[in-house]
Amino acid sequence: MTAAARPGEQHVESACPLDCPDACSLDITLSDGRVVAVGGSEKNPVTHGYICSKVRRYPEHLYGQTRIPHPGIREGRKGEGRFRRASWDEALDLVATKMRAVRDTRGAEGILPLSYGGSNGYLSQDTTDARLFYRLGASRLLRTVCAAPSSSAAMGLYGKMGGIAYQDYAHARLIVVWGMNPAVSGIHLVPYIQEAQRRGARLVVVDPRRTRQAEHADLHLPIHPGTDLPLALSIIRWLFAQGRADRAFLAAHALHADELARRAEPWTFDRAARETRVPAGDIEAFARLYAELSPAALRCGWGPERNRNGGSATAAILALPAVAGKFGVRGGGYTLSNSSAWREVDGMAAVKAEEPGTRAINMNRVGSALAEEGPSSIDLLFVYNANPLMTLPEQERVRTGLLREDLFTVVFDPVMTDTARYADVVLPATTFLERTEISRGYGAFVMQQAHAVIPPVGEARPNHEVFADLCRRLGLARSGDPETTDEISAAVLGSSRRGAQLRRSLDEDRIAFLEEGVAPVQFVDTFPNTPDRRIHLVPEALDREAPLGLYGYQPEPDFGRYPLALISPSSDRTISSTLGELHRAPVPVAMHPDDAASRGIHDGDRVRVFNALGSVRCFARVDSGMRTGVVYLPKGIWGHNTESGTTANALSPDALTDLGGGACFNDARVDIEPAGTA
Ligand code: SF4
Repeated sequence: MTAAARPGEQHVESACPLDCPDACSLDITLSDGRVVAVGGSEKNPVTHGYICSKVRRYPEHLYGQTRIPHPGIREGRKGEGRFRRASWDEALDLVATKMRAVRDTRGAEGILPLSYGGSNGYLSQDTTDARLFYRLGASRLLRTVCAAPSSSAAMGLYGKMGGIAYQDYAHARLIVVWGMNPAVSGIHLVPYIQEAQRRGARLVVVDPRRTRQAEHADLHLPIHPGTDLPLALSIIRWLFAQGRADRAFLAAHALHADELARRAEPWTFDRAARETRVPAGDIEAFARLYAELSPAALRCGWGPERNRNGGSATAAILALPAVAGKFGVRGGGYTLSNSSAWREVDGMAAVKAEEPGTRAINMNRVGSALAEEGPSSIDLLFVYNANPLMTLPEQERVRTGLLREDLFTVVFDPVMTDTARYADVVLPATTFLERTEISRGYGAFVMQQAHAVIPPVGEARPNHEVFADLCRRLGLARSGDPETTDEISAAVLGSSRRGAQLRRSLDEDRIAFLEEGVAPVQFVDTFPNTPDRRIHLVPEALDREAPLGLYGYQPEPDFGRYPLALISPSSDRTISSTLGELHRAPVPVAMHPDDAASRGIHDGDRVRVFNALGSVRCFARVDSGMRTGVVYLPKGIWGHNTESGTTANALSPDALTDLGGGACFNDARVDIEPAGTA
């Protein structure tokens, strides 16, 4: 149902496919054929008719100055962002010619497609794009910048079992929010937490910062970044040592419980307190609450994974509900990503090409990859659904790579991102309001279909059309390839045995739900997707992969002259870099009053945040909600948000996590000094 229309206005439904767990259903207000407002609709029962402030500003994204109006070919220096107008034919001919030249001279592995979560839609990624790059034999990108370590852990332990539905948090007597901030990311969880609290539930928050959620907690553990693993292991140890482990549940549903207990054994509360820098008494209080209160819902975010111990940390956190026997009741268990709940649908079913055995490049090391010379160089970079200059580690290496005169860069995006300014060819992409999309939440258990509510702005074209066109220009198209929206969605939905039913639900209601219902209960309606449907607490593959074995803790290295831990979680303005062009205000680095005072820094001062990799010039916000030794610059910001045009990623190493090859953003260590007056 949509809101009542004013005279001259029309309301139409849509759904948000952005990289966010919640998958809001949307109510779009049109006037004279233009989008004038974006609000929430009641279609998705979880998101309940309200949306985030970011997407409310979507009309500015659609029609703003940064929108790319037509294809462009570079005429200025790289990075200058000056392009002459080109027709689609001219631009795509040039791109196809360059691709052919790279393939025929040094081999197609010289081409790197780079995409990420600019859209979670089934139609805008992994369809004709993958077909093009697979058939070309291009290098493959490992999409590891987020969720790779936690996915590895969740897959190893539970086969990525679906988690607790947001609605069921209202039934919990204890809620643990670990390494995430639902006040800004996955916001629709907040009312359910509040409802549970009104009914008497206790709330524990684990986060280095005193976030808005932490302010409402009964217990806040502001641990030092990178120490989630010792914290979780110390609680596991205590549960076993105190006879509070649910031995009956473990015997029935889990493997290797004794081995997990053995690995947790060294982690006394005192030892964990030394690493985490929170009092042992607070850790014990957390452990007691967790043992005593049921149902206990654990919301694990993506904060714990972003350091050298990230995979093991997430595995240890996810092991907690198994050890303490928290499954089998509504409101009990854990939630990480629910993306795999839709495993019945093969998102790659429309590709119709085999993935080649070409080299795989970890996206956290794209900066290094772009620096390669000779036979392993990347000569053509094709960026879409992503803004790598702002989102990848070692930002200055990425920038240096993008400046290479012998690199041909294509950026296909709705707006002129920081990365697009370095392109040789820019191609204007449609947004989700200008094309059909089918998307699913990775928090909310819903799949939604939305049709274009306006025609493409300017000369924008949808992803699937452009990549299908490039396939044809390169002679890679084959008869029967799914190319249109209808053909692609038929292939994707048809991969499910419930395909016809999903199709009907989406056509009739624009929304579809899981077979298990809107709120499956772990170990009642949904079980581990491991081959034996049991929990593998120490899976062999993860144990082999982690440098010190699974649950092996890598202590804080000596960072020498950089004593401050820099973290870069989401803010209420930016989660990913999508829509970052709308937030032009300067962004501060937040630091504890003691860290500021010892450096002669006052609130609002200009400062330089630096380490051996680079620097960021911005202003300081002195904030007692920070813990000492930890400073914060939000992720997802753009170059225009700081004086130097650099962001936290200029200070992030390209080291990889213990599992999954993930990014170690929170292992950035820096110092800060006053930068004087401008
Ligand atoms: S970004 Fe998330 S909260 Fe915002 S509208 Fe989209 S799904 Fe909803």
